[in-house]
Amino acid sequence: MASIKIGLEVHGYLHMDNKAKLFCDCKVDAAQPNEGICPICTGMPGSKPMAANKDAVGKIISIAGMLDCRINTRLLFQRKHYDWPDMPTGYQRTMSGSYSVPVGERGMFLGIGIADVHLEEDPAKWDPETGLVDYNRSGFPLVEIVTNPDFTSPQLVREWLKKLVTTLSYINAIDAGAGIKSDVNVSVAPDFNRVEIKNVNSFKSIIQAIEYEVRRQEQQVKGGNKIPQETRAWNDSAGVTVFMRKKEQAADYMFIPDPDLPVIILQDSEVSSIISGLPERPAQKIERYIRQLKIDRTDAEILSSEIYLAEKFEKVVAKKIDPVLAARWFRRELLRVLNYSKKELHEIEADEHHLAQLLRLVEKKKITDEVAKRLLEKLVEKPFDVEKHVQSSGLTAVSDAATLTKLCRQALEKNKKAVEDYKSGNGKALNFIVGKIMAETKGKANPQELAKLLKKLVK
Ligand SMILES: [Zn+2]
Repeated sequence: MASIKIGLEVHGYLHMDNKAKLFCDCKVDAAQPNEGICPICTGMPGSKPMAANKDAVGKIISIAGMLDCRINTRLLFQRKHYDWPDMPTGYQRTMSGSYSVPVGERGMFLGIGIADVHLEEDPAKWDPETGLVDYNRSGFPLVEIVTNPDFTSPQLVREWLKKLVTTLSYINAIDAGAGIKSDVNVSVAPDFNRVEIKNVNSFKSIIQAIEYEVRRQEQQVKGGNKIPQETRAWNDSAGVTVFMRKKEQAADYMFIPDPDLPVIILQDSEVSSIISGLPERPAQKIERYIRQLKIDRTDAEILSSEIYLAEKFEKVVAKKIDPVLAARWFRRELLRVLNYSKKELHEIEADEHHLAQLLRLVEKKKITDEVAKRLLEKLVEKPFDVEKHVQSSGLTAVSDAATLTKLCRQALEKNKKAVEDYKSGNGKALNFIVGKIMAETKGKANPQELAKLLKKLVK
């Protein structure tokens, strides 16, 4: 593959706890079209925006902080003019553009430079087929994250975007359900003329658009053609990019500072208190889990894929449970049980205390894995005192040698056919006998120990 450069302008809906828009009190979750609107978010003549939603500004600072950006403390909204039916004022209010500084800049996230993180308002939803406009989402706060053109392949973009979404989920910054959109720029060797692709509206389309555009440009170069600098649009149904405008016709947005909105001056203390409250990033967690807790990379990646999972895991480990054992149980069993019962970890009542109780019994071999799995299923349904339950229900593992030997002898006696099979070379026949003893003891005997003992006795 020829040398390529890819940059992204990622747009996401901020996750607003109060569902409020950026410059008015309307809620964004109105059920019917044009139900959640007012004169401000429909741009009625004479209406003035309210001061920018403080939570939205705070979220943007958090996002910029998670991406290791330098945070600017003097923030300015500008009017970005354009004439579309989805923008009733004729301009979009944004913290980007000629006269403003972004909220965050000069950041770095997993090897990709972050040029700009800023806040802006969403336009309305316009259906060009019918001409109908729904203003419910008009004025909703958006984040835009602009990267440097540091990506060298679509695969890298895919992995990076996934990690970006996970990282921002740690601070609940973006409405993941609403998905992310992106403008993408792609350029190939030798000239690296920048081709911008607009309106790529899903994760899948972002990758498809890049792959298509790389192929198209490479074919052009192979044919001896120059790639002109231009803006193209992604056509989702046809899976192609189509020409929109040349560089010379680049849209002139006539940026001006918005005279209705005061400059926002942030105190250094305000910014540093937000930054110092940010959680450890998933990428750092993974490295720390591997280094400090000695758990393998796959386990570390899965545990850190969700902040609730990582936090719960850390709390269990803090109760002096072996991290490797805890990681294995979290990843294989806890996730399986949660998945089966269609529950999220933060929805269950059982806490680190219950989980640690269970894993401690496993660690000390007081109960077998089989019994522990059944108890975990119960715990996810409803918490209980695991130790007491194990004692009162007689679930303690059968571990004394005499009892195990007796069980094995009886089983060998009862399953002569399997013994013959085993002796004539069928190793699996032994598993059958192990299974019989497991069933008889309701999972309270350790299958590995049984197998070892049986082998010895058969000889
Ligand atoms: Zn409104």
